[in-house]
Amino acid sequence: MSRTVAYLRCNSGHYFDGSVCPFDGWTATGCAEFPLAVARLDQRGLAPSRALLAAEGLPDAVLSRILVMEFPDDCAVFEAMNPAGYIVGGRWTPLVNAPPGLR
Ligand SMILES: [Zn+2]
Repeated sequence: MSRTVAYLRCNSGHYFDGSVCPFDGWTATGCAEFPLAVARLDQRGLAPSRALLAAEGLPDAVLSRILVMEFPDDCAVFEAMNPAGYIVGGRWTPLVNAPPGLR
């Protein structure tokens, strides 16, 4: 059974499923509401989506940092990731040089 997980992106480009980045301790105003909103959706049997999290009242500053991923099963789910970089415009872009929307 697939599982959908919502992550927040910190300003270093890490993704995590709570309110504080486990890699560097980053958090921001409104981030504490993120896991609470996800939990409320889960209690209603709803997978997280950006639209549903917006309907839960998360501020735009938090919504702009959300990435939702659907995994094939629980075995593939992780709590956080620290990518080395991205392919942007067909070119390898190390995370430290990634555009603001990716970090
Ligand atoms: Zn971080």
